[in-house]
Amino acid sequence: MSDDTHVADQGMASAFVGEELVRCNRCGLCLMACPTYRLSAVETDSARGRIALLEAMREGQLPLNAETANPFLECLACGACTETCLTSVDVNELVALVREEWYRIKVPPLDEQFVFNKLLARPRTLAFIMRALSSAKRSGLAEIARRLRLVRLVSPRLDTALGWVDTIPAYFLRDRLKRLGFRKRRHPAGKYWLRTFEVEPIAPGPQVLYFVGCASNFSQPDAAEAAIKVLIRAGCEVMIVSHYCCGFPAYVAGQREAARRLAALNVLALSRYSFDFVVSESAECSHFLKRYGELLDGNEEAERLAGTVRDFTELVAELRLPKGQTEERVTYHDPCHLGRGQGIREEPRHLLTEVAGAELVEMREANSCCGAGGFQSITQPAISQAVLQRKLEAIQETDADIVATACPLCMTQIAQGLRRAGSSIAVKHVAQVLADALEED
Ligand code: SF4
Ligand code: SF4
Repeated sequence: MSDDTHVADQGMASAFVGEELVRCNRCGLCLMACPTYRLSAVETDSARGRIALLEAMREGQLPLNAETANPFLECLACGACTETCLTSVDVNELVALVREEWYRIKVPPLDEQFVFNKLLARPRTLAFIMRALSSAKRSGLAEIARRLRLVRLVSPRLDTALGWVDTIPAYFLRDRLKRLGFRKRRHPAGKYWLRTFEVEPIAPGPQVLYFVGCASNFSQPDAAEAAIKVLIRAGCEVMIVSHYCCGFPAYVAGQREAARRLAALNVLALSRYSFDFVVSESAECSHFLKRYGELLDGNEEAERLAGTVRDFTELVAELRLPKGQTEERVTYHDPCHLGRGQGIREEPRHLLTEVAGAELVEMREANSCCGAGGFQSITQPAISQAVLQRKLEAIQETDADIVATACPLCMTQIAQGLRRAGSSIAVKHVAQVLADALEED
């Protein structure tokens, strides 16, 4: 198919898009909230400019081609524009629809097709590949391949992705379950792992099905491990079952059908068990799991499941924990998918100060995006790194010992940036600050 296909011809003439376009009055309030506009000061890098482009494409004045699709591919899906907008135009959904349309016209890159349509639906194959990458990292092979620029010859994006290999640990969260005291149990729906509390809790907590996100398992298992320890300390019974990627990376990349398939697989996999809440310490996962009802419109089981989802910080703020002790100064970065996405801003701050006992030093623009944005750190590395730079400066100004956050992708992005800058500020999940403080009490 030609690159110059009009959007209106491709089914983008939905009533939803029309309504959102009408709601934008071109006021420009969103301009300075947009991290990509702040980098370039180019109108089409802002929400207002993207909306104007979409309108022109919809009316047939402009084609959807590589040039007009690019501003939509570069959006970080941070939602800062919608938060600022007085009429709350749903820019994230408009951007996702244009990306989707673009990839109906232009075949998506092969690596994205493989990851979103094949790999994420095969957790064992994914784990096997991640183990191979972890071994390659420890043997030094990955670094040698990068230095020789062998990978760059195959794919520059894969070369960027290999930068993330540095963050892959030797043992993933699912490898640690026995050591964490989980025992395998049988269930008609399949085997699962269960960990009950050992110390008598202050108050018995709910039964939690812990959702092990891909970034939590393969990149930040210490954060997930700490979250599980805190839940158990708060009296929860924690179960872990086999499931799939939540689907957010596919959705944000414009592969809605792949995201819907993963969501449907998860609804089947999780709904067979009984529990009070599905909990994740990954803000992206908890945010997207809460949206399963709208994503799988009409699926009652998806709606019910979505209603049980809680972010780790959201649930733990409601549970009773002893007061911990920490001497450290902590600053907090609001993940876009927790603060803006789920409206959860006070809970992590409450946990850090009132439960962990930390001194909280607010950074400027704590709720601005760190540049990770789904897969943007890999697919749009230049923009991602430029946006990160502003975040790193804000963190370093605070002179804190720890920057805490509540999303494994933000953690990895910020940790890489601070390491490159030679900073000694530690990056931790709120759960790790809590677990450390409670161990010291
Ligand atoms: S989602 Fe973020 S990057 Fe995208 S237009 Fe809105 S503010 Fe800009
Ligand atoms: S998206 Fe909202 S804030 Fe931005 S120009 Fe349109 S109406 Fe104004």
